Amino acid sequence: MADVKYVFVTGGVTSSLGKGIISASLAKLLQDRGYSVTIQKLDPYINVDPGTLNPYEHGECYVTLDGAETDLDLGHYERFLNVPTSQANNVTTGRIYQSVINKERKGDYLGKTVQVIPHITDEIKRMIKLVSSGNKYDIVITEIGGTVGDIESLPYIESVRQLKWELGAQNCIVIHLTLVPYLPATGESKTKPTQHSVKELLQTGIQPDILVLRTQVPLHVDVKKKVALFCNVEENAVIESLDVSTIYEVPVRMLSEKLDQIVLRKLGMPIGQEPPLIEWREFLKRLKNPKHSVKVGLVGKYVELPDAYKSISESFLHSGSYNECAVHVEYIHSEDITEQNVNEKLKGLNGVLVAPGFGSRGIEGKILTAKYARENNVPFFGICLGMQCAVIEFARNVLNMEGANSTEIDHKTKYPVIDLMEEQKSVIDKGGTMRLGGYKCIISKNSLSYEAYGKTEIIERHRHRYEFNDKYFDDFRKNGFIPVGINPESNLVEIMELAGHKWFVGVQFHPEYSSTVIKPHPLFVKFIQACIG
Ligand code: GLN
Repeated sequence: MADVKYVFVTGGVTSSLGKGIISASLAKLLQDRGYSVTIQKLDPYINVDPGTLNPYEHGECYVTLDGAETDLDLGHYERFLNVPTSQANNVTTGRIYQSVINKERKGDYLGKTVQVIPHITDEIKRMIKLVSSGNKYDIVITEIGGTVGDIESLPYIESVRQLKWELGAQNCIVIHLTLVPYLPATGESKTKPTQHSVKELLQTGIQPDILVLRTQVPLHVDVKKKVALFCNVEENAVIESLDVSTIYEVPVRMLSEKLDQIVLRKLGMPIGQEPPLIEWREFLKRLKNPKHSVKVGLVGKYVELPDAYKSISESFLHSGSYNECAVHVEYIHSEDITEQNVNEKLKGLNGVLVAPGFGSRGIEGKILTAKYARENNVPFFGICLGMQCAVIEFARNVLNMEGANSTEIDHKTKYPVIDLMEEQKSVIDKGGTMRLGGYKCIISKNSLSYEAYGKTEIIERHRHRYEFNDKYFDDFRKNGFIPVGINPESNLVEIMELAGHKWFVGVQFHPEYSSTVIKPHPLFVKFIQACIG
């Protein structure tokens, strides 16, 4: 018998049905029943990781503590489970092929023709098993990106088929998520797309064990019966996933649908106590019954696609619920902000967050936002490029360094207040070469950040190439924009705070990656408190 049990989550009919949320919700319920669970995402694209993708393509790039640039679904996994993920939790087709090709060059397959089956599928299976090496977990939930029937995901599906055969039905199950559209004209929920999608899966040799039906309206029991009959699935293993107002509702719904119990029964594992989800339900209650309300501006250049800022908007929900405050996020395009309209654009906001980013597009709008916040005593939170913009603004307008800039934007600037890190100067490749993952930071006691964290030593995640130029350290400090957080090994400036301001904090790291439902990030909590006033 296998020590670790595997649950695969596939999707059919259409993309964006929320496989990640279903996976995370199931994991949450199993975790609350006392099992150790992790979630893995297999992505069918050929990039080695999403680090080089434009956020418009695939949403935010999420960064793990161990410095992997990963799919944004890993953010959901961490936010739901409150345990860190790692590089092993996200595998792409590019990574699989890279590994197989490296082995081929080394001569590992000497004499053989290297093929999708068995070489690519073996590598996929190895990566699936790798996540639980050392038997760290009772259950591994693996989400297969894309939709069943896509050419790209075929090797993944084939690997699942092989694993199911190798490990046996009690050690490996498949949950298939589909859509049951509702036709208002006839008042009917249609099962045909689900039937076709299961047929597609059957053609690849996989009989799904559980079907989760995403639906806009509650499903009549006859609909579930029909799906069960046509798709060869037990009636009680046809689960309804009704649209809900927040993703954080899904675990509670899946609990009442008994998804976790069905999974455990199929895997032959003890069901144990009903998970009470105490903290989770308290979080939801506060989220839905806010006593305060604030309007926060999120200034960035990818605002047309809110997924580009997923971790930030989720952090607002966590910290909002913590403070019993509804956080209304106004997405503001940094390219639309000009000297003439900045007051008008940002008027009425209780706080502004300037988002991370790369390159020069929209940067002046971000710098103007920092100026507006500084001059009008409006709570300001700058993340990564957001902090760098606040530094540029202060240099230009307070320290009178005309034309001050980051060398990322203007490499000839007379005042390079933000400059390329020394270790980056020899870097040529773009993929996976930034300063990535968790690094230590020491915080000065007399600071807003210390007030938030309640300790002087923290570890936060990073994703950048440029840094505060410490040549200007004293100019800033003496004039009240104070480096209060420093990396103890490299002296890199991690946190800047403006003295005498209501709440003005810029961080070089990414606090949004580590905010979870159970542990909202302290800086987001304090920022929202400052916005409430
Ligand atoms: N472009 C900036 C840098 O590389 C900021 C990066 C970010 O915001 N993640 O330093």
